[in-house]
Order: sequence, then C-alpha cells, then structure tokens
Amino acid sequence: MTSPFRIYAVRYAHRRCTSSEAFYGDHHAAPMTMDYFVWALTDGVRTVVVDLGFTEPVGTRRGRQFLRCPSKGLAEIGVDCARVEHVILSHFHYDHVGNYALFPRATFYVQDAEMAFYTGRHAALPAFRHSVEVDDVCALVRLNYDQRLVFVDGEREIVPGVSVHKVGGHTAGMQIVAVDHAKGRAVVASDASHYYRNFEERIPFNTLHDLPGMYGAFDRIRQLASAENLVLPGHDPQVLQRLTSVADGIVEL
Ligand SMILES: [Zn+2]
Repeated sequence: MTSPFRIYAVRYAHRRCTSSEAFYGDHHAAPMTMDYFVWALTDGVRTVVVDLGFTEPVGTRRGRQFLRCPSKGLAEIGVDCARVEHVILSHFHYDHVGNYALFPRATFYVQDAEMAFYTGRHAALPAFRHSVEVDDVCALVRLNYDQRLVFVDGEREIVPGVSVHKVGGHTAGMQIVAVDHAKGRAVVASDASHYYRNFEERIPFNTLHDLPGMYGAFDRIRQLASAENLVLPGHDPQVLQRLTSVADGIVEL
C-alpha cells in the first residue's frame, strides 16, 4: 500500500477570453476568464509536479497577466523546484512547458506522440505553431539528448500512486494524470478538459488536434476518476472555488 497523495493547484497567470474560444460550436463570444495553473502531487516523501507554466516574458508577449513565477507558488506549499525529481508534461503547449530551467534535477515525462508531432511535418502549420514556443520545443530536444526525458507510449506509472495516460483530442500526445488520493482516484486532466464544463457537458475546447479524440478523452477522464469531483480541469477559475484554499491562488483537492 502506498500512502495517498495530496493534490495542489497553483495559479500563476490569468487572462480574459470568450466562450467561443473555450467551447466548440459556441458563437456567442460571451466574455469569460481563464486561469493558468501548475499542479503538485505529494505523499510527504515523493513529489511530482505536473506542468511548468510559461515564463513572464512569454506570457507578457502573448498578452497574459502574469501573477507570479510558478516556482514561487510551489515554494509556498513547500515544493522546492530545484529539488523536484519528477515532472510530468501533459503536452507541449507554451503554457505548460516553459519553466524547465527551474527544475535542474528533474526527469520530464512526455508522450512519444507529442514529441513526434512537434518535431514533425505538421508542427510549423500556423494552426499548431501558434500554441508552442519554438525555443521550448528545442529545449525539450536538448533535454532528450541530456537523457532527462522519459518517453511514454500510452500509460506508465511515474511513482507508486501516480500514473500517466495518453488521451486524444487537444494535442497529438496529450496525457492526463491519475493520482491515488484519500478520497479515491483523482485525475489531473490538464487541457484534456480546460473547464469543468468541457467534460461535464462533453463540449470540446476550441483549440484541438482531433475532435473525436476530445470525446474519447472525456470518457477516459470519467473511467479513471473515482468521482467527477476528483477531476481537475486545466484552466477553470472555478478550481479556486471548488477546491480548498490553502494560500492566495493555491488550492488543495
Ligand atoms: Zn493550457
């Protein structure tokens, strides 16, 4: 038996957007907001960080409101990025992989399909290129040559109690994270479901790699999670209301 993990969401940035950006088929362009998070999982001995967030220069260039470096938020819950050994990268979009330099001791877990796609023939098409920073992708290639990436094709246990699961939809190699939590099996869905509403009402987000894969991802989230309230979406400001506040912009499941 492993002891259950505690799961924290740390908000580091914010922006205004519209419902048409968030929900496939929505033409109302109603104003809404989007938050940016990184997640920390810890059982008291092992710590796994899920996603890295973007750097302030990248966020500012893209018009995002940068609230703090993700490392500062993680430090508030006792996570020292310089000592973290396991980092799961849910996918390669700029808002999830920018701060690799803050994790000098980490191994980064990525899906084969994600690296193949963003180093492959379609990566430079505007529809896909827009969502990544080329410098980040190059850095990930370098990290691979430094033997600091672990490639996953599908599913893998990262540490006992934490596993990754490839899903389709948002990107070619999107992966979600299943976590043994005191309340049951939780899922850090990241951008397999940006908002609660995406998976609750089965409405895909509007930035997508393949539409049927989006629905498959919603199914997989529900299969893996013991209960719907144990799913953490990737960008929903409601995360800060539905979970338990532990510090400013930091909540615990
Ligand atoms: Zn994202």
